[in-house]
Amino acid sequence: MTPTPKPKRRQTKPYSPTSHSDGTIAPKPYRLISLPKQKPQLGHPIGQDQYYTDRYHGTLYLTLTVQTAVHISTGVVEMGTDVKQKSIPLIKTMTQGREGNLMIPGSSFKGVVRSAYEAITYSCLCKTKAKSHQIPNGYSECRNKTQLCTTCQVFGAMDWQGLIHFTDAYCQSVGFRAGFIPSLYRPRPEEGQRYFKQGKVAGRKFYYQTIRAIEKGQQQGILVQQAAKNYSFTSQLHYRNLTIAELGTLLIVLGQDQAKYPIALKVGGGKPIGMGTMTVEVTKLEQATNLRDRYLSYQVTPNHLTGEPLQQVMQQSIQKAHQELVQAQQLQELTDVLKYPTEREPSI
Ligand SMILES: [Zn+2]
Repeated sequence: MTPTPKPKRRQTKPYSPTSHSDGTIAPKPYRLISLPKQKPQLGHPIGQDQYYTDRYHGTLYLTLTVQTAVHISTGVVEMGTDVKQKSIPLIKTMTQGREGNLMIPGSSFKGVVRSAYEAITYSCLCKTKAKSHQIPNGYSECRNKTQLCTTCQVFGAMDWQGLIHFTDAYCQSVGFRAGFIPSLYRPRPEEGQRYFKQGKVAGRKFYYQTIRAIEKGQQQGILVQQAAKNYSFTSQLHYRNLTIAELGTLLIVLGQDQAKYPIALKVGGGKPIGMGTMTVEVTKLEQATNLRDRYLSYQVTPNHLTGEPLQQVMQQSIQKAHQELVQAQQLQELTDVLKYPTEREPSI
């Protein structure tokens, strides 16, 4: 039997990856994480009116370390003199604290964590640019606050505040680096075709971690305020009424299942050229397991965990997450993209 040749479709805009001068083709800087076979499972979120005794409440203390330059734009361009660098004419700014240290808004970081949490659980397609007819059946963004997917229950949805909150992350040192984002990089519109399979969204897009970010090179760029490699930021993740599996899933996304899933996150602008890589360390867990006792006595001190006891609690939570919430296939795919350290070179 001879195979029937596939009919050739004329493509008006064929995908054309960037060619290097030596004729090699640059690999694409991102990958689509497949959607799990099962649709999002919707459920009623737990009430916020009280602390449930069978749920977990507390605070994770986080240190975020810059691995490749991070820039989160305020959308404002300032004179160099305004940022105390006379040699610079104009620069795109980041938010700075009163002391002049750079700041990553908690809401920005939460969005980054959310995207990864969505990708590895049965969750809706949130904040996608796709049209509604392109969303696979059952994957529409949750809009009914009594019927929410796994991620929306934790991170919030319309009219539902969610169970976690990230504080703004402040840099532990004052100052910044003035770096360039090449002006010639633009998302290529033809890449959009790769989002879809039979007209429906085929997965979630994540940019690869790379060993370094592309610097100015020969092409002129836009000068931006950056947090340079090894700058570190501190933030807190407050949570209440989480299940242990939900807490564990957060920890996996934050890279705490390091031996098997060494995930780093990508924050802010310039992702296609390798910017934005940050690793996370959990330095302390403040448990509020004795909330009922708190009402009885003002003497009760919160339960602070560090070192080995902290690791034990984190690993127990992570184990539950693997058993109950996390999709192994999608976690593997995500880890392939977000693992750090990496030998991958940036491509443009
Ligand atoms: Zn949802």
